[in-house]
Amino acid sequence: MLQQTQASRVVVPYGKMIERFESPAAMASASQAEVVRLWQGLGYNSRAIRLHRCAAAILEHYDGQIPRGERALRSLPGVGAYTARAIMVFAFEEDVAVLDTNVSRVLSRCVAGTPLTRGEAQSLADAMVLPGQAWRLNQAILDHGATRCRSVPVCVGCPLRRSCAWARTDFLEPDPAARSALAPAKQARFVGSQRQLRGQLIELARKDRITSQLLRAIEDGFGSERTASALAALVDEGFLVKGRNSWTLA
Ligand code: SF4
Repeated sequence: MLQQTQASRVVVPYGKMIERFESPAAMASASQAEVVRLWQGLGYNSRAIRLHRCAAAILEHYDGQIPRGERALRSLPGVGAYTARAIMVFAFEEDVAVLDTNVSRVLSRCVAGTPLTRGEAQSLADAMVLPGQAWRLNQAILDHGATRCRSVPVCVGCPLRRSCAWARTDFLEPDPAARSALAPAKQARFVGSQRQLRGQLIELARKDRITSQLLRAIEDGFGSERTASALAALVDEGFLVKGRNSWTLA
């Protein structure tokens, strides 16, 4: 839920999701449509479908228990390196380091003082983990990246300023984070994008079925051909089911 989404937007849907589904088995036995409905407000709806499939895989292959170990976790739908390691460190308190844009930014500026490839950043993060301290260390680096060492860093009053490698150059060098492998790509324009069109169609289906009448407003904005092709893609991808004259969540 937190991937590419601010924590403040996640708090409410996360609470609803946990209240409704107390275990992977509970989610696996619910309909995909219900999970997509609860995902409302988070965007990137394909993650809701992957979460539902992930719950089903946990039930089928791991007897309903979230598996241990990076390899087993990464075999689950929607779970990549970051999520697997985040589960390992934050749920099971194993001694591993997570790497995302925030962590990479802090490491390249504060620890290395130079741009880092993905592999260099992961090795550096792994090397910093002390036995039994991984949970605290990862939380601290993620928080530091989210609250102070942000894209535009708040260096005045930073508790790490004295030891920060980039600060010790008096910031004369260009920002190491901007040239690191995990520097965020520039976001494509949202208004008028395929993402916006797909989001609007899913939003309609969340409320009710999508009828030709309801589609008109979307067709006015995006054109009927583009809208029809987006609907067909959403059916192909398993988001929607086409009825005689309408579409509903799968
Ligand atoms: S001094 Fe600035 S660049 Fe260095 S860790 Fe603190 S916020 Fe980041």
